Amino acid sequence: MTRSIRLLVALGAAMLLALGLLSPVATATAAPKASAPTAQRDLVEIPAKAAVRQAVAPSECAGTLLDGYVDGLLSDMTTEQLTFLFAHLDTLLDVPTYDALFFGTTGDPDYALESHAHQLQNTFRDLRRFWDIESADIQLMAMHGDVLLDADRIAATLTAMVEAGEIAPMTPAQIELEAQTVADFMQTQGDFYDNPLWTLNAYAFSGEDETDPVLAALPDKLVFGDGILAAYDAIGLGDVGPRVIMAHEFAHHVQFELGVFDTGPTDPAEATRRTELMADAMAAYYGVHKKGLALNQKRVTDALLSFYTVGDCQFASPGHHGTPLQRERAAAWGAELAAAAKPRSYVLPAATFIELFEDALPGIISGS
Ligand SMILES: [Zn+2]
Repeated sequence: MTRSIRLLVALGAAMLLALGLLSPVATATAAPKASAPTAQRDLVEIPAKAAVRQAVAPSECAGTLLDGYVDGLLSDMTTEQLTFLFAHLDTLLDVPTYDALFFGTTGDPDYALESHAHQLQNTFRDLRRFWDIESADIQLMAMHGDVLLDADRIAATLTAMVEAGEIAPMTPAQIELEAQTVADFMQTQGDFYDNPLWTLNAYAFSGEDETDPVLAALPDKLVFGDGILAAYDAIGLGDVGPRVIMAHEFAHHVQFELGVFDTGPTDPAEATRRTELMADAMAAYYGVHKKGLALNQKRVTDALLSFYTVGDCQFASPGHHGTPLQRERAAAWGAELAAAAKPRSYVLPAATFIELFEDALPGIISGS
């Protein structure tokens, strides 16, 4: 709360209103963008955007660790940086994510894992062994904020986003100007390009069901931002958090591979809730299982719920992940299934796990 007051002092309410950050409409828009009316949801949900809006105009849904962490990042910025952030919010938060999506490959040093590299590589290898799906084609990589120092890379990413309909149309001249403006600013601001806010996410991507030929041709990816790793370190969950989030993201690849990602409810919010709760349950199963991380249930649940709670109160948003209670029940269900394994080392086939989950889902949602 105090954070929002300080922000208002720094920027002025009129400016925030002009940017749409204080309107109730804007705070509820994780919804499809006006430029892409046919899109069901964004290719990649960027939780930091909602967290920044939450910092400016807190609602009753405040209070996740992500929100608190973002408040801290914002309060460390200078007024000049905050002003620039709100004037270029989409570019700063979209470009590192979509640069990795469109152009990242595992072997490219620009996308090499740095923070937590061994932990992530080991967990990735372990997950590929744990779940019985075809996973050799998934590329694990990092996203780094330093793309924001490079006008050519920013321009290439914005161009690809416009072509994919992910952002409103921009002319080549507009893209060039925006890319140069952001790169020029970042080059004068020390390590601001490396702020965790730009890369505060991890995501799984598969082009399998994409109709756009460019997207369909992209390899399967699992992308980790430096920011989310820094955030887990900052809240003392650096040992468990990255591994559990990787298990959640890997679960989305299990869903892609088994073709169950789009077989749920037709309502986009309900569909997302189903796949997210399923990913939580799979992550908890792996996290607690003797052949997985063999962690206790509470640590796994804490790590799962600490960040991925954006959209909790936006029940109609396509990015809705389920309420914290539903997510807790999904994680508990997966953890109990792991604890009940007989023999202890037996791992369910992924398809069987998913069948059991579908049966349990109504109870996980309703709590009865
Ligand atoms: Zn997810």
